[in-house]
Amino acid sequence: MSVLENKDDLKILVEALSFKEKVDRSKELISEAYERYGDSLVVANSLGKDSVAVWDLAKKVNPKIRGFIVTTRYKPAETVQFMEEEVARYPELKVYKNDAAVPEGLYEKDPDKCCDILKVEPVKRAIEELRVKCWVTGLRCTEGRTRTDFKEIEQRDKGLIKLNPILIWKEREVWQYLALYKVPVNPLYGKGYRSLGCAPCTKIAIGDNERAGRWLNTSKCGGECGIHTRPLKSR
Ligand code: SF4
Repeated sequence: MSVLENKDDLKILVEALSFKEKVDRSKELISEAYERYGDSLVVANSLGKDSVAVWDLAKKVNPKIRGFIVTTRYKPAETVQFMEEEVARYPELKVYKNDAAVPEGLYEKDPDKCCDILKVEPVKRAIEELRVKCWVTGLRCTEGRTRTDFKEIEQRDKGLIKLNPILIWKEREVWQYLALYKVPVNPLYGKGYRSLGCAPCTKIAIGDNERAGRWLNTSKCGGECGIHTRPLKSR
């Protein structure tokens, strides 16, 4: 049976599979999806550790696989620098950004709206322009409270599949992969960050919840920007 059609209990696999078995499964998921969707399979790269691991896996499956980066005016200088280095390494990574005017301090007053404008809109545009039928993400089910119920293959929008090939990887296994294959990472991890976003909404946090430093002290704390929860295609 195709791994894309698996009905496995992912919560069990998080603990039951070895690092190598997880890497092999991730590559198989990407490989089968690429066979099925061809160039309409595109990898989303947020410039965080999970994204660069997925991007590296995808390039090992087939160097022709395309990708896109979504950035905002509020990304930290280190992330912008890292983005420029990634694009120089991989010119096939297309960058999307929304430069529309937004009210001053919108990220404090209404972070959901701010993320909708600055993050969700460019993802929608990327999906439209690149004619994506399957987008590939670095989402992981052990990252935090909002990410426990995703599946490896999902369809939230008609005509758009989302593949989450490292869904069952733990944080440690991501770092294991990046170290083993010498994949360059965003230098902010060296300062203690564990989950990266825009500068005003990202703090260094410790504890079990990897995403606890995102939107700290707001109702959105540890939450989602919306690209994994909002519709991404015009109906
Ligand atoms: S992470 Fe913060 S600054 Fe970035 S788009 Fe969302 S609310 Fe705005």
